[in-house]
Amino acid sequence: MYYCDNCETIFEDPYIIREDWGDNYCCPNCETDCISDAVKCKLCGDYMAAREDYCREKVCEECETDLKDRFKELVEDEFDEKELKALYGINYDLSLFEEYSE
Ligand SMILES: [Zn+2]
Ligand SMILES: [Zn+2]
Repeated sequence: MYYCDNCETIFEDPYIIREDWGDNYCCPNCETDCISDAVKCKLCGDYMAAREDYCREKVCEECETDLKDRFKELVEDEFDEKELKALYGINYDLSLFEEYSE
């Protein structure tokens, strides 16, 4: 699968334009050659452009936002503000909860 940086289309096979110097692999939608490999989100399975931090997360932006939101809700249900501030003070990796830093 490929991703077009120009029109953001995901497609299976590049459109090949034959030039004097050889084959040019292009986007079938907009016919530019700004294409790169698409990668699969390990949660929803959707193809997406490879993100800069993809090696670390392997999760698309929508899934990442959803995960963070749900995790945050769960933790906020369980702990009150004072406890969250204390947790943050313990310096666990709580970058999601920066608002509780004092
Ligand atoms: Zn395109
Ligand atoms: Zn996803």
